[in-house]
Amino acid sequence: MKKIAFFCIPAHGHTNPMLPVAAELVKRGNTVRFYSFNEFGEKIRATGAAFISCDAYLPELTEQEASGLKKVSTTEMAVQDLRITRSMDSFLDGEFQSFRPDVVYSDSACFWGKLNAWKHSVPLVVSTSTFAFNQMSSQYMKNSPGELADMVLGLPRVSRELKALAPYGYHVKNVFTLIASDNQTDTVVYTSRRFQPYVESFSDRYAFVGPSVFSKVEPNKEKDRPLVYISMGTVINDRPDFYKKCIEALKTQAVDVVISCGNAIDREALGALPDNIRVFPYVDQLDVLSRADAFITHCGMNSVSESLYMATPMVLYPQTNEQQAVARRAMEIGAGVMLADDSVDGIRSAVREILDNAAFGAAAKACSADFRACSGTAGAADFIEKAPHASDGVDVIRELNASNTRFQVLYWLAVILTVSLLRFLVGWKLSWVIAVAAGILSTPISKQQQRLKYASLIKSLKK
Ligand code: UDP
Repeated sequence: MKKIAFFCIPAHGHTNPMLPVAAELVKRGNTVRFYSFNEFGEKIRATGAAFISCDAYLPELTEQEASGLKKVSTTEMAVQDLRITRSMDSFLDGEFQSFRPDVVYSDSACFWGKLNAWKHSVPLVVSTSTFAFNQMSSQYMKNSPGELADMVLGLPRVSRELKALAPYGYHVKNVFTLIASDNQTDTVVYTSRRFQPYVESFSDRYAFVGPSVFSKVEPNKEKDRPLVYISMGTVINDRPDFYKKCIEALKTQAVDVVISCGNAIDREALGALPDNIRVFPYVDQLDVLSRADAFITHCGMNSVSESLYMATPMVLYPQTNEQQAVARRAMEIGAGVMLADDSVDGIRSAVREILDNAAFGAAAKACSADFRACSGTAGAADFIEKAPHASDGVDVIRELNASNTRFQVLYWLAVILTVSLLRFLVGWKLSWVIAVAAGILSTPISKQQQRLKYASLIKSLKK
């Protein structure tokens, strides 16, 4: 029997998938301490794990910081994560000394969980509530100019916070070491190998266990008329404008509608509701999805996984780059349409497309079967109990990095040679233009080179 310390950030989407795993480990006789926040205390205690409240260590936020977090700014999240790590330091030192965990199970975005596992030399298993993202799979994310600016301009703030952590015994080269999925860390991912993009780029240290859901309910779509479920998740759900448009779009349709709008919205503000539409601050999402025929979703990984688990096709309305990646994959497997036009007419026609074309439902059903065949909660518990793991296979990312280094050397040698030659033939002005163009093109070209190399590596590995 093992002593296992769970760590998670205060977010439903990150906490929910860890709960069944905690329950399974407790059922097997392990001792689980779950370090989390009061909002989640009840759910955590229900798993049988000991709930340890960390609310006292949450920093006071300025208005600007709070608004950054609300907009899911990568910089703000990283800065606050690093601050919490600092404020929790002596508390967690004491906990590690008294509890002496055999394994740490930490959410991928929970820096204090990961950093303390390293600091106290305890085997770490990472819980990834979205896709595993490395240099290949992150190509599914398209950062908006605003997101890119946020990341680049925020780097000095993040690096100041990282430096401030060093005296506490946390030594991190850069923030990417904390964020990205690497092939040397034991990692549980709550999806199937089939749904994970670029799955072969991940080593044997990854367990793709399928969605972590408590419910064993089978989908049951038998009823008089279709049910449409709408939710923007639990983080960025303050969208009365959008819910109003959905109500307008669906009030005259022969469908029933359930909207989960979160606590931030005054339901009165949505106006008088037509008979076929009901609005709740929070619902039992798995239960609703088991009966739903279409789901308008913000494409949080949990929501999409739960939808596919319950064989419900989706209207995809991603709000962040990560959700964009999840949406793209759901579309690729044929289980959803993107809501490109979020006007009343656009929403109505996207919902009709999902309801009227049986192919979407069939693709979602196939994915449900795939998810249900995964090792699930028991697989995650086995993986955590047996950590640390070894990896004997080829490290595809290491091979890709080596190939990329060779490619970059050759590419820039070719550019230097061409520019030097052209300088004599056509003058320095044009050669500068070519040098700048080569610089701009180097990123898309090297990404394409990586994709080709990946394809050839996987082909040779499969032989
Ligand atoms: N959820 C729920 N009831 C609701 C709305 C959301 O149970 O009314 C749950 C949902 O089942 C999922 C989580 O909250 O497990 C939302 O996570 P997701 O990753 O989809 O989105 P986030 O809230 O993190 O943006």
